[in-house]
Amino acid sequence: MDTGFLPFTRPDIEPSTIEGVAEVLRSGWLASGPWVERFEQALSDYLGGRPVRVVTSGTAALELALAVAGIGPGDEVLVPAMTFAATANVVVRAGARPVFVDVDPVSRNLLVEDAERAITPRTRAIMPVHFSGLPADMAAIRTLARQHHLRIIEDAAHAIGSRIEGRPVGSTDDLACFSFHPNKNMTSIEGGAIVLNDADEAERVERLRFHGIRRTPEGMIDIVEAGGKYNLPDVNARIGHDQLGRLDAFNTKRRRLAGHYFSILERLALPVTLPARGDEGHSWHMFQLLIDFDALRLTRPGFIAAMRERGIGIGVHYPALHETTLYRGYNPRPCPNASRVGRETVTLPLFPAMETTDVERVCTALSEVLRGS
Ligand SMILES: *Cc1c(COP(=O)(O)O)cnc(C)c1O
Repeated sequence: MDTGFLPFTRPDIEPSTIEGVAEVLRSGWLASGPWVERFEQALSDYLGGRPVRVVTSGTAALELALAVAGIGPGDEVLVPAMTFAATANVVVRAGARPVFVDVDPVSRNLLVEDAERAITPRTRAIMPVHFSGLPADMAAIRTLARQHHLRIIEDAAHAIGSRIEGRPVGSTDDLACFSFHPNKNMTSIEGGAIVLNDADEAERVERLRFHGIRRTPEGMIDIVEAGGKYNLPDVNARIGHDQLGRLDAFNTKRRRLAGHYFSILERLALPVTLPARGDEGHSWHMFQLLIDFDALRLTRPGFIAAMRERGIGIGVHYPALHETTLYRGYNPRPCPNASRVGRETVTLPLFPAMETTDVERVCTALSEVLRGS
């Protein structure tokens, strides 16, 4: 696609997936059924065999992970100040307190030394976000969690298919949550998954996602806790199952396009801060620059409008969470790097159906807008 408007992201659904959805619709089984089981098994195989349960969103997965970890009133949870709202909102909804931790300005991942400073006797868990698909420093996070008896709840919404220590993100530690929202590296429209440690935790998620129901050995229904309603429909599972089969190819293409951005932007030497390069384990959910708009006498809305005039969609991911109206009320610790990223970040178009010519188009527009021509 060389002409027309280039959005910052776009999902890629094959005709065979559309036909697969029609098959599910014709089957008469529309709620959670055989495709949920197949999708869960395929995710578990992909993630090295740990139990996986799918739910209606990444946010639902995080909420259930906090419940499985037993997080509640009086507890504190370490959350990076640069992430999507859901990471902190689920902590508040569990009745606990999010404690913000600063991030590295280039990797955008949480600074483990700042996490250590934020620990109090009430700290129960740490929620690393693998920002833009670049794995966080899990070795250091693991050590910190062991020393302070913290649960690790990975918000891996950006990182399906990322790899760390030679293994898939989500396969190496405690609880991990994925999102299959259409903007993510694979989609089930809405949907999410939670990776668990054992069969007991998996059973707990099954109850929490479906009314607290437990089947008795005689096939009757018992209610053992006040569960909610977070089960994924089979139509979504069918889409997610197909997308998982294409995920590695999607991510290979994303890495290639990111490499093309680097080669052009390094040559152009524009007044921007490039993201961390990462390695083959980076799944490139987003390609983001930091731009010091004040120094260039520009504004971010003005920049976005100028790029839009040139047919290029720009995203902003994200405002610094500790500076939002809700979280200012939590008397947050200062997180200056997250503040800077929140002010300066822009997300360039990156999705598997793009071609290298699209990357070149984006870079040409960037150069025009930043050099004021
Ligand atoms: C997308 C996202 C979520 C939430 O996922 P949904 O499926 O939209 O509920 C959580 N955390 C991060 C970092 C995300 O990007």
